[in-house]
Amino acid sequence: MKLVVLPGDGIGPETMAVTVEVLKAVSEKFSLGLSLDHDVAGHESLKKYGATVTPELLAKVQAADGMMLGPMSTYEFKDESRGEINPSKFFRKSLDLFANIRPARTYTGLPVRLGEFDLVVVRENTEGFYADRNMESGGSEMLVTPDVVVSLRRITRLCCERIARSAFELAMTRKKHVTIVHKANVLRIADGMFIDICHQVGREFPEVTIDDFIVDAMMAHVVRAPARFDVIVTTNMFGDILSDLTAELSGSLGLGGSINAGAQHAMGQAAHGSAPDIAGQNIANPFSLILSAGMLMSWFGQRKALPAFVRAHAVMEQVLADCIAAHECTRDVGGKLGTRETGVAFLKRLDQYPA
Ligand code: ATP
Repeated sequence: MKLVVLPGDGIGPETMAVTVEVLKAVSEKFSLGLSLDHDVAGHESLKKYGATVTPELLAKVQAADGMMLGPMSTYEFKDESRGEINPSKFFRKSLDLFANIRPARTYTGLPVRLGEFDLVVVRENTEGFYADRNMESGGSEMLVTPDVVVSLRRITRLCCERIARSAFELAMTRKKHVTIVHKANVLRIADGMFIDICHQVGREFPEVTIDDFIVDAMMAHVVRAPARFDVIVTTNMFGDILSDLTAELSGSLGLGGSINAGAQHAMGQAAHGSAPDIAGQNIANPFSLILSAGMLMSWFGQRKALPAFVRAHAVMEQVLADCIAAHECTRDVGGKLGTRETGVAFLKRLDQYPA
């Protein structure tokens, strides 16, 4: 498996360094034959090449079997004409990574504030209320007068259909329950279509129970009883917000692993941002990126029918849970270790597992 590795901004270089060590160890243990191609995106690339991402980098990831993207200083990249392209958007759009899969669960060893739960947010990734990915050219936010702004939200049949299918397929491997999250009471046409299409796709999966919630009420339900949810399917912006909530409920944003998957490509990426407030201090939690790397292994293994990759993912998740239970982790999840030391503890435990 050829993997392009892009450490990113803020805490990215620290957490990616640990993740790379884990990937090397996992490759060795499970004979995965991973080859890692290290490159740059974000500020590092802007300094070096005058742009946060380049056409050469895109060609490289298109030819690879997957990529790991560190967190990006998205908020600081404002002017595309000066090379400040949002790398997350760039790869999601260029590689058509339409499904952002964001699991969240509770762990032994962490305070369970709202009861145990294990759910996955399946978030559409390529349209919705994101001004930078809706148009063929230009953005979908317009300054009408200095005091008036219009922001457009695009919803298409194709994108609703494929995200719904991803959710139902995933539900078939889990508890067979899909919750549709929407705002169809206000966005009647767009979210009305989203709900209809989810139900249409759902009819192909008669074993799966379907329910739906308006997004504002959903926040209350998740906070009240997260255990009642399994797979949650929703549009881009709602999924982004909801999945930060579910990651934090699981213990910390630092546990928010995710992949962005399309028909041909996939990208492992932590659900959180670049966390500039804690960058460079060796305190960031590397688990979100390690979980993302594990999910990427699994995605590849399932596509290529290579069970060793799927097993590697399962073991990575187990080792991570063991580390948390033993408090061998960073302080955001109740430990006392630094980022690097957490990586060392992880590798030690990984060593004890049979291949
Ligand atoms: P950005 O502008 O890149 O989105 P941000 O700080 O606004 O960055 P996040 O990076 O998502 O948003 O961080 C939100 C909060 O969660 C911050 O207080 C940050 O320190 C914390 N946080 C995020 N990721 C981690 C992590 N891996 N380990 C520990 N804390 C984290």
